[in-house]
Amino acid sequence: MKSKKKVVIIGGGISGLATAYRLRELGREAGNPPEIILVEATSRLGGVIESCSRDGFLLEGGPDSFISEKPAGYELSKRLGIVPEIIGTNHKFRRSFIYKKGRLVPVPEGFYLIAPSQIPAFLTTPLLDWRTKFRMGCEFFIPGRENQGDESVGSFVRRRFGETTLQEIAQPMIGGIYTADPEFLSLAATMPQFLDLERQYGSVIRGLITRKKLRSKNATQTASGPRYSLFLSFREGMESLTRAIVAQLPEVSFRMNAFATEVRASSGKWKVALQRGEVLEADAVCIALSAFQAVPLLLKAAPGISCDLGMIPYESVATVNLAYKRSEIPHSLNGFGFVVPAVTGRKIVACSFSSVKFAGRAPQEMVLLRVFAGGALHRQVYAMDDAMLDHTVKEELRHYLGIETPPLFSSIKRYPKTMPQYRVGHLGLMKSVQSKLAGFPGLYLAGNAYQGIGVPDCIKWAELTAESMGQFLTERERPEVS
Ligand SMILES: Cc1cc2nc3c(=O)[nH]c(=O)nc-3n(C[C@H](O)[C@H](O)[C@H](O)COP(=O)(O)OP(=O)(O)OC[C@H]3O[C@@H](n4cnc5c(N)ncnc54)[C@H](O)[C@@H]3O)c2cc1C
Repeated sequence: MKSKKKVVIIGGGISGLATAYRLRELGREAGNPPEIILVEATSRLGGVIESCSRDGFLLEGGPDSFISEKPAGYELSKRLGIVPEIIGTNHKFRRSFIYKKGRLVPVPEGFYLIAPSQIPAFLTTPLLDWRTKFRMGCEFFIPGRENQGDESVGSFVRRRFGETTLQEIAQPMIGGIYTADPEFLSLAATMPQFLDLERQYGSVIRGLITRKKLRSKNATQTASGPRYSLFLSFREGMESLTRAIVAQLPEVSFRMNAFATEVRASSGKWKVALQRGEVLEADAVCIALSAFQAVPLLLKAAPGISCDLGMIPYESVATVNLAYKRSEIPHSLNGFGFVVPAVTGRKIVACSFSSVKFAGRAPQEMVLLRVFAGGALHRQVYAMDDAMLDHTVKEELRHYLGIETPPLFSSIKRYPKTMPQYRVGHLGLMKSVQSKLAGFPGLYLAGNAYQGIGVPDCIKWAELTAESMGQFLTERERPEVS
């Protein structure tokens, strides 16, 4: 009989949980599932994914949705059997607003983060003046960049579309996703699709229009199965996903309130030291944490990797959920929410009209709003104490939506250093980490610092990591690691 291999996964967020789930799937298929221990520093699993009910409202602290364009989230839900729990966005209001000169102006139809794909909507939008539209139109004729090295999102947008598009559209649209300063954000690591469009079609706009035509042609030829909106969630909130994973991993040993302090190699095995004194032994270890949290763990065993990981900066964000009576909000709330350009000097990054976006977030005649604050361009707002932050957010909402009355309640959640900043050169750094990891067989990294920060990105990377681990455990002759 084959002996059971042991695996320790450090971190009980979606990255650690998806790694455990995929490892268990692979182990079952191979007929020799490894013994898995998952170590989590706190008393709950799910990491930043946390949904909670209050007075009939469903509040999301961390992510409120995942995108359907990246299939890993949906595919995992399918394997977990929770597809019936998935909900799409409210199709009546599929649009968002950008704040401009005291008003919320709709993002023109077909506008994709930095560029339009529908010319009539672009030409008629009040969001842009004629000068900016003309400058954006010139994008068709701007040659691609000769230098093939990485470039910041800021530099790319400025080069192709001009300064106003960068400050008034690209920055707020991207800011809501990465909470980053576009001047430092790597284009190749975060939005390689725009680089591809420039290279393939000589123009982002031309590329978007061409691909859109191709997609609609293919869609009419192959139309079948359910159609999903771009953003998806679950009836009972995003935590349904992590809860379902945990429920289907009865054989995994979850060590709660267990803070890992060190990972080291010893006599061909890996050892994971916990703060409370225990040392766990394993054939393979996956560190599914933020990069900076992995730094101290690897300082002695793999200082080179530790040093690389320490170069990835993180930003802090806060979300504030606010519950209102519908009658107390003068704005028609006919969209999913709005983003605010940092150049306006205002205090928040974005606001979702949560109960408009997804069903079941608020009781009848009530509204749930969720404000996103902090990040690279609003550190001073994150630094406010809770009372000040709460006051600031309410004042901001009064300005944008005309709300004069206090909410039924508001709830602040803080996520310190949770948003990795993929700076220019990030892909090079990742290559360096990967090549160094090759010198440490049995050691793996998962998390949002590596191949994308969204929930589907974390799942995809976790699953690839689990597949490498599975291969290592079952098929490879494992060399000594010490
Ligand atoms: C406010 C917010 C909103 C977001 N919105 C979206 C969205 O709408 N859509 C989307 O796709 N993505 C969104 N994201 C991004 C996405 O949610 C995260 O990138 C992803 O959930 C990170 O998961 P993770 O498992 O890698 O990390 P985490 O969730 O941070 O999990 C890491 C876990 O490790 C534990 N831990 C830390 N140190 C140790 C240690 N030494 N020993 C043991 N355990 C340890 C932590 O307690 C935690 O449970 C959002 C993120 C935030 C913060």
